[in-house]
Amino acid sequence: MRPEILFPLFAPVTSLPGVGPRSAKSIEALAGPQVVDLCWHLPSGVIDRRYAPKIAEAEPDRVATLILRVGQHLAPRNPRQPYRVACFDDSGEISLVFFHAHADYLTKVLPEGETRVVSGRLERFGGRLQMTHPDHIGPLEELARMKRVEPVYPLTGGLTLKPLGKAIRAALERAPEPPEWLDAALVTRERWPAWRAALGAAHAPEGPEALSPLTPARRRLAYDELLANQLALALMRHHQRSQHGRALRGDGRLCDKVIAALPFELTASQRQTWSEIAADMASEARMLRLLQGDVGSGKTVVALLAMLGAVEAGAQAAIMAPTEILARQHFHTLAPLAQAAGVGIELLTGRDKGKAREAALQRLGCGESALAVGTHALFQQEVEFHDLALVVIDEQHRFGVHQRLTLASKGRAVDVLVMTATPIPRTLVLTSYGDMEVSRLTEKPAGRQPIDTRVMPLERLHDVIEGVARALDGGAKAYWVCPLVEESEVSDLAAAEARAEELKQRFGARVGLVHGRMKGKDKDAVMKAFAEGPLALLVATTVIEVGVDVPAASIMVIEHAERFGLAQLHQLRGRIGRGAARSTCLLLYQSPLGETARARIQILRETDDGFRIAEEDLRLRGAGELLGTRQSGFPEFRLADLAVHGELLALARDDARLILGTDPDLTGPRGPALRVLLYLFERDAAVKYLRSG
Ligand code: ADP
Ligand code: MG
Repeated sequence: MRPEILFPLFAPVTSLPGVGPRSAKSIEALAGPQVVDLCWHLPSGVIDRRYAPKIAEAEPDRVATLILRVGQHLAPRNPRQPYRVACFDDSGEISLVFFHAHADYLTKVLPEGETRVVSGRLERFGGRLQMTHPDHIGPLEELARMKRVEPVYPLTGGLTLKPLGKAIRAALERAPEPPEWLDAALVTRERWPAWRAALGAAHAPEGPEALSPLTPARRRLAYDELLANQLALALMRHHQRSQHGRALRGDGRLCDKVIAALPFELTASQRQTWSEIAADMASEARMLRLLQGDVGSGKTVVALLAMLGAVEAGAQAAIMAPTEILARQHFHTLAPLAQAAGVGIELLTGRDKGKAREAALQRLGCGESALAVGTHALFQQEVEFHDLALVVIDEQHRFGVHQRLTLASKGRAVDVLVMTATPIPRTLVLTSYGDMEVSRLTEKPAGRQPIDTRVMPLERLHDVIEGVARALDGGAKAYWVCPLVEESEVSDLAAAEARAEELKQRFGARVGLVHGRMKGKDKDAVMKAFAEGPLALLVATTVIEVGVDVPAASIMVIEHAERFGLAQLHQLRGRIGRGAARSTCLLLYQSPLGETARARIQILRETDDGFRIAEEDLRLRGAGELLGTRQSGFPEFRLADLAVHGELLALARDDARLILGTDPDLTGPRGPALRVLLYLFERDAAVKYLRSG
């Protein structure tokens, strides 16, 4: 149950004065539906109204607050002309200008002969000073209130600053003064204000410097958010750890057979990560480990060895892929190896139906087959394992913390290994996975040829096509990536379909097309034709990004490379350079190239190290944009910006660890306050892991 002290913050925004159903809609689109969302909507700029000159000294193009005596009103004869009010001080004259004016209203707020305070932007028009639509008009008593720095908020269509500012001020008034959840020593050391004061300060910047995310108030708010995130993850983790696991100790007989059957030697990195995983599986505690490895670093084999370890211990193991294509590809890779070890393996996806599926389910149910490969279909209710002990989740870069938790319920005390293709910097690993054990594949399999990465403007498309033609004639295979298909709202994106048509004119039946809206079966057929058969040039949207392995492909053309993130480009590029042939990646960009896009492309040319690329990407774009936040499942932070608050995240992790180390159920002195924190950041789900909720 949410603590009562937070009730006002979790009321709908319509509960605020002046917020009706219509503005509520705009506010919801902009910030969110609840009062608390407005509190999190921090200013992005300021208007400084402290400049208060005499008229004679006033400089145009500045915001100023003036004390004026109201003179004559001049209503326009022609309605397209503005309404003017002449005003004075003892130094000079200024006119206030209003278009589409309501005379009644103006005579009321600007009564002739009275003194008024007026604030707005000064302009010079025809050699005379004027102010069009002042932001504020009021009696002299309001001078102090008006002559200050005003926050400016990000806006959306349908909402202007005034009503939004008013709603936010009302929201801030609803903010309670909660008990302090932070460690007192930390607060003192960092000179952080209390929560409510910090919130107030963040919304009342005293100048542009106060908008910096590094002010004590902003840092405190960011820290609160990160601590809530880390505490929630640590609670889930603690809960999982405290459940009994089982010791899965393999004897190596199956792994040895597979290693003997591999056409290559394991890299040192593969051996290292495999032994880390095996040690973790052999312990009593439940495993929750992340295997991070760049595209092509050879995670699949490591996963297989881990899975066979479980089988050697007499249990079953499953690997889940994010897409149908990948599940099938894993199956094709793993099946012959499993066979070499004499272990039964099944494929289960949403598309496998009927008798074959029944038989597969039966073999998994009785334990005849020890391994399963599939999509999330693996974890549907009808699927019953005889004794599932290890689940490997190949996430590539789609994360889903929740999915991961439901998964583990298929067996008893299931160990979980999550695999991801690198581009997750250390800091982001923390926000998505919390304090999870991490194994990293840092070395590429030997014999990989470096990829030649070149950058070209789209105007040179013709040359590119000719280059591709020469390579195809020499027997090469090429990918051609376009950003989107038929997204009419972004009409200038190169449509993959149109491009495929065009390339077909040149290359005929050797051209195939694969995109995200195709049916799985059709997609597979095209991929297969590209991997094995008649297709040599595959036009694709980013669906190929995820894990596809066609070693013969040695050319990658990426159109509108400037529209992709760094990590994404790195992933795409990783599709080539897998075979013996020398590979080329051509990044085609639309000029002029922006500064960030230029920096991004430069990094790609400089390095092939996914870990470094990931860190650079975070630095260049901020976590919010990294990998396209929404699809990626990264938690979105409202107050913390990992590009600048990264060091706070590590602190929050240690803090969370310490808290749960001494007070795992949050029943100690800081407990109630920390629960408020979890609810404040809507980590309600984590609270249920506490023994006394
Ligand atoms: P990823 O980490 O991207 O999932 P994969 O497991 O798909 O990488 O491996 C990429 C390719 O490298 C596969 O074709 C695989 O057979 C090959 N491979 C894996 N390990 C090695 C190795 N130690 N030496 C040579 N090739 C390897
Ligand atoms: Mg893979």
